[in-house]
Amino acid sequence: MSEMFGEENAAAGVGVLDEPLTGKCLCGAVSITVQSMRREVDVCHCEMCRRNYGSFAAMVAGADFTIDGEDSVGTYKSSDWAERCFCKNCGSALFYRFIPTNFYSFAAGHFELPEGLPIKQQIFVDEKPDWYDLAQKSPMKTGAEIIAEAEASGISFE
Ligand SMILES: [Zn+2]
Ligand SMILES: [Zn+2]
Repeated sequence: MSEMFGEENAAAGVGVLDEPLTGKCLCGAVSITVQSMRREVDVCHCEMCRRNYGSFAAMVAGADFTIDGEDSVGTYKSSDWAERCFCKNCGSALFYRFIPTNFYSFAAGHFELPEGLPIKQQIFVDEKPDWYDLAQKSPMKTGAEIIAEAEASGISFE
């Protein structure tokens, strides 16, 4: 078990972008507009994200979103608690849905993000391959730590 972003979609405590931001996949068949995007990027190093994204997952989230080109969105249910969605035309990994909280996070690379966004945290650092490190200072949490946090907020992975 090693995939999750156990948080509410509400932008509590961090600033959000004033304007909606639209991102798109490699071929452009799918574009996603995120409202009130949080001014931070979440990073996950788990093995499942590594296989899904090719390396670590860098994700953004907001208060709400709309999808243009939904017919081109494929869904892979990667575990009992998560879905990973992709463009059926070009294969880009688009977004992740954490089912227990209905939390969506979107691949940061599809958006032209403003400068200066911090990394909120890096999770599943115990599954990070040793061939890279991210230079930015950010909170580092192991899989056990992030799972304990989610369980403490009432989420079950049974
Ligand atoms: Zn595409
Ligand atoms: Zn992950």
